[in-house]
Amino acid sequence: MKVKVKDYLVKMMIITLEMIILFSESEESVSSSSDDEEKRDPNDAVEGTDDVRQEEIKVKKDQEEAENNGRDSLEDSAYNAVNNKIHYLCKDVQEALTRLREYELRTITRFSSFKSTKNFGNTDLFAKNHKVYWEAEGISNNGKPFVILSSKSMDCHHGPDRNVKHKQTYKEKKKERLSTNSDHYKGKSYLIVQDTKKFDCPAKVTMQEIVQFPEYNKAKSPPSIKLETFKRNSSKTLKEKLADKSLANYERRILLSIDDVGCHKYHPMGKTQNISQSMDPEISSKIDMFVKEGITSVREMKRLIKLVVADMFGKENLPPSNSRRFYPSIPIIRSKMDKSKQKLRYSMIDQECLQQKIDEWKKANPSLNTFYRPKEDTGDGKCQSFLFVHQEKWQRDLLQRYGDEILLLDATHKTTRYAIPLFFLVVPTNLDYQIVATFVTENESFESILEALKVVKSWNPSLKPLFAMTDYCKEEINSLECVFPGCEVLICDFHREQAWGRWLKATKNGCSGRKDDILPRLRRIARSKTIEEMNEALISLRSSEFWEEDKYNNLREYIENYWLQIKEVSLFQ
Ligand SMILES: [Zn+2]
Repeated sequence: MKVKVKDYLVKMMIITLEMIILFSESEESVSSSSDDEEKRDPNDAVEGTDDVRQEEIKVKKDQEEAENNGRDSLEDSAYNAVNNKIHYLCKDVQEALTRLREYELRTITRFSSFKSTKNFGNTDLFAKNHKVYWEAEGISNNGKPFVILSSKSMDCHHGPDRNVKHKQTYKEKKKERLSTNSDHYKGKSYLIVQDTKKFDCPAKVTMQEIVQFPEYNKAKSPPSIKLETFKRNSSKTLKEKLADKSLANYERRILLSIDDVGCHKYHPMGKTQNISQSMDPEISSKIDMFVKEGITSVREMKRLIKLVVADMFGKENLPPSNSRRFYPSIPIIRSKMDKSKQKLRYSMIDQECLQQKIDEWKKANPSLNTFYRPKEDTGDGKCQSFLFVHQEKWQRDLLQRYGDEILLLDATHKTTRYAIPLFFLVVPTNLDYQIVATFVTENESFESILEALKVVKSWNPSLKPLFAMTDYCKEEINSLECVFPGCEVLICDFHREQAWGRWLKATKNGCSGRKDDILPRLRRIARSKTIEEMNEALISLRSSEFWEEDKYNNLREYIENYWLQIKEVSLFQ
């Protein structure tokens, strides 16, 4: 009874979820409206199971027929069904994965890996002793003795939750972050209808890496000797040959065993499963590729995925439009794109290329100063952060000559492939502005910028700028003040104007209609040359007829709390 109630609840949950998804994406619900009637039928799950069953039986029949039509049963890639399991003997891991994928697509199931030995598929045959087997489920008729080298297990994606602890710590950390960081951006919160898709389904897939020895096939046993004796003697010789590594004739195979559809429990089967499936690995790797090529729009990515799927299956055999395996939803695509970007930041290959480049530059130009620390695991669970600082000799000379008056620090974002900030240190020379040092940090934290500036300072120990100019970024201002004590940091006019312009234009701030009226008053404050001038400008702003209006609460708060707080820094020079 308990099981039945659980079963029913799960079914209802999935149907609810499906309806939410169907309604949230009107575009798709229109295109698949013909399927809709069918999907809302509460009996669908049961029917779905029958569909899959029939499909499975048909496939089994086809396979058996193929085998009867002269194919040597259980040869390579053979298919065999025993005890509710389906077995394939595959040439390599790639083939096993392809078979499993075909099976998943046919039956709308999904398995995810939870345990695998290192180097699965390439284990050293001679590394340790192995037991010799003559029979196993799935390859019993094959006749060749074999040893098992390693294995890999996979659960149904509705199987046991193997990450409970990890998820728990994540939840606790998130809670803590929200409670301590009350003033800052809290991150988006989503309504999660279904907390988990793990329902303890027992269905499993195993892959075993085996090595067969065709020379000792029991079919070759001479009639004069008893089969048992032949097996015993062969096993012994095999073990000896394995021990002294003199065995040359062997075949490496992957034995794939899949629990058939009847083994799935606690969740519906069939078409409803389309909506709960996670992304196909091929789609996932395409997203990695597109992100690397510079695609940043989620909508564009969705369009590209559609094209990829059409390429994969051809126009006639497209998967159903509600298949989340091939048509992931916008939030899923977005989070996958974020992950790809993260991965790209720490691409080891690119880091190695940079190291090579630095070596080349240094060879050609020994007076070049560089500091390079790749992002790397330091082994004790920690990770050293990425930092690259670059300064040539002529830049050092310019900095020495012009840097004591004013330094400009400018950060660029999203202008490189890597989504990591790129900083320029600039000085005004007698002719124009020149970049005198460049650095790339992993993030824009105070610590990162501080460290980079300290490196620059160590190359130019006598540098003592009176002023520095930057955009309104606390981390930049603080680190400049820290590395160059006594230096006054000004906010760059360009960035201030840009920030004001953007803020006033944004409709949510409610000032877009009065922009032309407000902006000159603000500018008057910023451009005043004496304290008196500034005070007058302030009075003029505060006495203007809109200042006290409720409608402009946002503006008042923005100007008073955000900009006027730092007016000393930006004005009293
Ligand atoms: Zn299952």
